[in-house]
Amino acid sequence: MTRNTGYVWHERYAWHDTGTFAGIVPPGPMVQPFHNFESPESKARFNSLVEVSGLIERLTPLRPRPATEEDVLRVHTARHLEHIRSQSEQSVGDAGDGWSPFGRGGYGIALLAAGGTISATDAVLTGRVDNAYALVRPPGHHAERDLGMGYCLFANIPIAVEWARAHHGVERIAVVDYDVHHGNGTQRIYEDDQNVLAVSLHQDSLFPQDTGRVEEIGRGEAAGTTINLPLPAGSGNGAYLAAFERVVEPALRGFRPELIMVASGFDAAAVDPLGGMTVTASAYRAMATTLVELADELSGGRIVFSHEGGYSAVYVPYCGLAVLEAMSGHETGVPDPYAFSFENSPAHPLKSWQDEVISHAEVLARQLGLVV
Ligand SMILES: [Zn+2]
Repeated sequence: MTRNTGYVWHERYAWHDTGTFAGIVPPGPMVQPFHNFESPESKARFNSLVEVSGLIERLTPLRPRPATEEDVLRVHTARHLEHIRSQSEQSVGDAGDGWSPFGRGGYGIALLAAGGTISATDAVLTGRVDNAYALVRPPGHHAERDLGMGYCLFANIPIAVEWARAHHGVERIAVVDYDVHHGNGTQRIYEDDQNVLAVSLHQDSLFPQDTGRVEEIGRGEAAGTTINLPLPAGSGNGAYLAAFERVVEPALRGFRPELIMVASGFDAAAVDPLGGMTVTASAYRAMATTLVELADELSGGRIVFSHEGGYSAVYVPYCGLAVLEAMSGHETGVPDPYAFSFENSPAHPLKSWQDEVISHAEVLARQLGLVV
């Protein structure tokens, strides 16, 4: 079965300038300047493969528009918006945590990233396309209402969610986040909102180091609508697919969202410089297939992927292509050239210490009544 899949990309996303950090630390007398791990490469090369593979001919390109101040202020404080705008006037600004540098004009690019996620959501909700992938940059899932962090300036998905609520009357939304880092921003923004289910699969205690525990379940009436799966470092395809089958799928069925948003980071992939997991393109394909099928079952097929992390310039493109193929149902026939190595890792079968975490989240979701 093929679907009409919308696709957002804009050259300006590659112009977001994160400077000369040596990976994650600023250059200094004894630290040679290099590239920030959050660089254009993995995103631009993902888009290059979408074009060169021919898949672009089967997708519906969507033109992103910048988010407006009104769009941003549904989620962020005026103070935060003003902070990003003023930092953007300097040659090197920072999103708020001292580790998220960006160059002059970054404010406009961040608005285009949030707006690209809105454009994708609009195209899905108006029926122009069946589903959509917004390949945006900078990412969004760490940004809180009053704080940018972890390379994230604005919370792209919450801004699109609140836009959908304001303009399309959508109420119940599920956000599934498979980026290797905890989706702390999404969690904080929605921890009191029982109409948003926030599910995050991430590497335990990676970033932020003190959030994303299984016990963080949402607050008050929203208890049970935050689900965290902090998988141990080294987890591979077996752990991710088991977490999907035993927690993500039943939780979404229990919640019955009208729209599914996916925080699509590929930094749980093998050879990511910031992650310690070993997920491969075939597992990203499987997770995307499951999510698209869940959308068919629960939300009239309405699902939007918004790009987050993923820092392996060579491997992210193949993980992304697999997701887009799963979403659209179009096969390019382009093989994963790294499969001969990455697919055969002994890291993939589910281990007992990974199973324990998944069981913990499974039991908690059942106790809270979300999973029956
Ligand atoms: Zn990440």
